[in-house]
Amino acid sequence: MPKILDGTAIAAAIKQEVAQEVRALALQGIRPGLAAVLVGNVAASEIYVRSKVQTCADLGLFSELITPPETVTTGEMLKLVADLNARDDIDGILIQLPLPGQVDTKALLDAVSPDKDVDGFHPVNAGRLQAGRPALAPCTPAGVIEILTRSNIPISGAHAVVVGRSDIVGKPVAMMLLHHNATVTICHSKTRDLGALTREADLLVAAIGRPGFITPEMIKPGATIIDVGINRITTGEDFELYFAGNAKRAAALAKRGSTLVGDVHPKAYEIAGAYTPVPGGVGPLTIAMLMANTVRAARMRRGL
Ligand code: NAP
Repeated sequence: MPKILDGTAIAAAIKQEVAQEVRALALQGIRPGLAAVLVGNVAASEIYVRSKVQTCADLGLFSELITPPETVTTGEMLKLVADLNARDDIDGILIQLPLPGQVDTKALLDAVSPDKDVDGFHPVNAGRLQAGRPALAPCTPAGVIEILTRSNIPISGAHAVVVGRSDIVGKPVAMMLLHHNATVTICHSKTRDLGALTREADLLVAAIGRPGFITPEMIKPGATIIDVGINRITTGEDFELYFAGNAKRAAALAKRGSTLVGDVHPKAYEIAGAYTPVPGGVGPLTIAMLMANTVRAARMRRGL
């Protein structure tokens, strides 16, 4: 039976450590603070941001939710970011994506001070990560590394195959695995004979954004699968493709009208040595690492 890598439990342990650190900083009169900027009213973004703000409260961090209207301009957003960069009570700035079309997302992300860039999206932090310097690293990739190391899955010497090369997940996770001495192959939509490469993987990271894309015949038996994908299934037809005969999932679909599937087909997990489930795998780590990054930013900014 493959081992299930329980992201919820690992995230809980990290959050407990963060809360402890927040208490220790409080003794020095420091309270790490996160500003979360949520533009407009995209329902999914609202759920994500509210849970980030709630987690700040749970762990003792200061947080402020800023909600500019859907019609906000790039200039107004740049001014907002400049103000947050200058505030001493704010250690981390999070700009929830996607932004409305009229806002220049790149200009805005580049305007966030690298020292407060708790999402790790600024080119300066991407460069620091690549150069192996202390950096605020992107949360989801950092969470992947936490899952592997805390589950005692060897990275050094392993052949890690990363499917996906986004700036947010694929590229940084590949770089982090390299820093942990894996031999890394990065695949993308133009990769030829993807299956031949994924079958070589001791560690397979799927960050593609396509439901159940990695199928059982693409997996090396015993491999570790890290499934970053989060895809929502709503139709009975899709349900049959991924979860036929799964009563628990059928109940979830009936109750909520949807259920989640990763980028890896659930049947492929059965061949693995270990895998992260969806939900409950990589997902919970993202918020935990955001909290850890905010505390790290607070310490770094004060030279601690
Ligand atoms: P993205 O920016 O859309 O990137 C997807 C990557 O997959 C691209 O590099 C693309 O290649 C590659 N790809 C697409 N089709 C492919 C194919 N047929 N064969 C091989 N590679 C293919 O997505 P992302 O932001 O990295 O997110 C990936 C997934 O992770 C999504 O499901 C997202 O919801 C999930 N996610 C989860 C979390 C979390 O907290 N757990 C956080 C972030 C993202 P090209 O570069 O050639 O186009």
